[in-house]
Amino acid sequence: MDFRLTEAQELVRETARDFVDREIVPHVRAWEEAGEIPRALYDKMAKLGFLGAPVPEAYGGAGMDYVSFMLLVEEISRGSSSVRTTVSVQTSLSETSLLWFGNETQKREWLVPLARGEKLGAWALTEPGAGSDAASLATTAALDGHEWVLNGSKRFISNASIADYVQVYAREPGTSRHEGISLFMVPQGTPGFTVTNVETRTKLGLRASPTADLAFDDCRIPKENLIGSPGDGWAQILKTLNSGRIGIAAGAVGVARAALETSVRYVKERKAFGRPIGDFQLVREMIAQSAVEIDAARFLTLRAAHLRDLGQDNTLEVSMAKLFGAQMAQRVTDWAVQVHGGYGFSGDFDVERYYRDARILGLYEGTNEIQKLVIAERVLGPTTRKP
Ligand SMILES: Cc1cc2nc3c(=O)[nH]c(=O)nc-3n(C[C@H](O)[C@H](O)[C@H](O)COP(=O)(O)OP(=O)(O)OC[C@H]3O[C@@H](n4cnc5c(N)ncnc54)[C@H](O)[C@@H]3O)c2cc1C
Repeated sequence: MDFRLTEAQELVRETARDFVDREIVPHVRAWEEAGEIPRALYDKMAKLGFLGAPVPEAYGGAGMDYVSFMLLVEEISRGSSSVRTTVSVQTSLSETSLLWFGNETQKREWLVPLARGEKLGAWALTEPGAGSDAASLATTAALDGHEWVLNGSKRFISNASIADYVQVYAREPGTSRHEGISLFMVPQGTPGFTVTNVETRTKLGLRASPTADLAFDDCRIPKENLIGSPGDGWAQILKTLNSGRIGIAAGAVGVARAALETSVRYVKERKAFGRPIGDFQLVREMIAQSAVEIDAARFLTLRAAHLRDLGQDNTLEVSMAKLFGAQMAQRVTDWAVQVHGGYGFSGDFDVERYYRDARILGLYEGTNEIQKLVIAERVLGPTTRKP
């Protein structure tokens, strides 16, 4: 067992760290206030290959291994969970779906511009009546001659308002549960397709990451916009979410690290009872516990990524990394607020944002409870539980 990173992995981490310190950290407060991230940032990230990190070079990507990709995601998340969300959706969900399930024509037409960062993507599974229970999705896609006709709605879709391409899961009319689900590419601006942004200020966190509700009203797309074979959707969803969840775990490590680094600086400067508060054992305990938990979450994440690089099944390890990471990030950002005292509550200090942003990690791409179900199923083996 070798815990050292390769030179290439170190380089990705250093490049990302430098980029985040220069291009994200100084601006993140203004973006959160404005409720959006300037497109120019994504252009800069695209030049470094960040928007197509795990995609092979043959399809316009950077061809990174998954360990490198997770180191990149951790750094981006250290700067901004909103930016990390956009990058995660672009790479782990949109591009990965096309890479795995798209045909050659679709890869050339959609994957290449996404991986180069010339276009942005969104991935739409959740509906008003189907979140954790994704198999109850009700949006339909009916074949009418040479077109698919989509009807229904989607909820809480990241990037949808800024995306050029939105991937949508819908079912053949008359089918139920895991049967008859397929994936479709709906370009922005298609008649019958409307996107309504959720008001950013009403969200607890991720205030610079656009989240939108989608409506499909007799929305017609070409027959060729089906990605994969009809009815393959359920297997695609499971495989894609497994890919996306590692990124959430790395995101958890990043935001928690930001919280700890901020706290370390603060406890050395802030004085009480004539001493820096970092001298007090109860404060040191929060710092020590944070450091241990962040490292534990990082090891779980990199193990899941390493297994993927080896081509091995990592479903259990991914769910463990995501569950622990999400719980860890909540604890660590909470301690960060605590060591900042009243200033941690004020909004003038970044820890307040870290605390709010950490909350989403145990909700999207499978709640903590869903990860526990996946883990328990693997640990217990076949039981009488019916999905
Ligand atoms: C900011 C944001 C961005 C998002 N981005 C996207 C996106 O880009 N694409 C997309 O498709 N979706 C996206 N989502 C949706 C997200 O994935 C869902 O909100 C999530 O899967 C939970 O679904 P739900 O909200 O319907 O909650 P529900 O499924 O209604 O869950 C409510 C509660 O019940 C629990 N629960 C449900 N079933 C069980 C069970 N069997 N056992 C135990 N507990 C259970 C849940 O864990 C949760 O605590 C986003 C959501 C947010 C908030």
